[in-house]
Amino acid sequence: MEIKVTLAQTNRTRPQDSALGFGNVFTDHMFVMDYSKDNGWHDARIEPYADFSVPPSAMVFHYGQAIFEGLKAYKTPDKKICLFRAKDNFERMNRSAKGLCIPQIDVDFVMDAMKKLIKLEEKWIPETLGTSLYIRPTIIATDPFLGVRASYTYKFFIILSSVGAYYADGLNPVKIWVEKEHVRAIRGGMGEFKTAANYAASLFASEEAKKNGYDQVLWLDGIERKYIEEVGAMNIFLLIGDELVTPILNGSILPGITRYSVISLAKKWGMNISERKISVEEVFKAHEDGKLTEIFGSGTAAVISPVGEIRYGDKVISIGDGTPGETAMKFYNALTDIQYGKAEDTENWLE
Ligand code: PMP
Repeated sequence: MEIKVTLAQTNRTRPQDSALGFGNVFTDHMFVMDYSKDNGWHDARIEPYADFSVPPSAMVFHYGQAIFEGLKAYKTPDKKICLFRAKDNFERMNRSAKGLCIPQIDVDFVMDAMKKLIKLEEKWIPETLGTSLYIRPTIIATDPFLGVRASYTYKFFIILSSVGAYYADGLNPVKIWVEKEHVRAIRGGMGEFKTAANYAASLFASEEAKKNGYDQVLWLDGIERKYIEEVGAMNIFLLIGDELVTPILNGSILPGITRYSVISLAKKWGMNISERKISVEEVFKAHEDGKLTEIFGSGTAAVISPVGEIRYGDKVISIGDGTPGETAMKFYNALTDIQYGKAEDTENWLE
């Protein structure tokens, strides 16, 4: 399919790297294509970033048939643009699509379209270490219809956002709140898909955690409220004795690309890594026994986020000494060195 390009008339400039935050600076252009039953995905185009015209009756506004992805492009010191495991994101998008009865996308085609868009927007990729171009592919249901069924028409788009360094002052351990009542997702539901509704479901508990002085929620399983699942919008890893543990994928956990990357590196480094069920009781017991030495989250935004404190009802435990743990730092450095082209891409993760 041909991609029609319409260039923007305005020529905006990127804010200084030090002024960039997360997700509020958008580039000049976006990629868009539409889907209909008769024509499949069609009308692929790169056009100026602008408001869409979508009817108020569009199904996405009523029944939440929406999926998205989040990935980053990095600029290396020799000005090469690197994408980290981008194909994995579009493959995950197709799994989310299947789960929400949204038509599949052609991964090779959208990879090419995304690369074309990024090349056009090259000046929007910040260059300071830690900064990046955040990429947000999205699909929404657009049928103007209030009956409940899967939409027959969709819009796919990719928007780009210049983002600042997540850790401007070094990795800061976060405080997490174990949520006993509210759940993010349940097995058999949509937790393993990257769909808007999961984020809506996370808001109430996240706001409560913040009101109580905590940064993120530690989500428990939705059935027994016993096993740990994810931390905020990240997967979670715990170092207990010499075992690095991450909850096994069970249908309600998002299979993070960073999670897979941590697991591969851990295996490569000969660590004792397990994907298994782990209860919140076991975490507190391991702490009591002096075996819990580190906890960290993994995700595209922060890459690795060390956890310094956990609250579960009245019980509060501290992990580490207020500085990031050795293992968290090792993964953080290894992953960011690959992403920014500072280390050899031994795993073939860049393109
Ligand atoms: N869990 C949730 C709920 C998330 O939103 C994210 C961010 N996409 C992750 C985990 C981490 O996934 P990834 O490593 O692919 O960014």
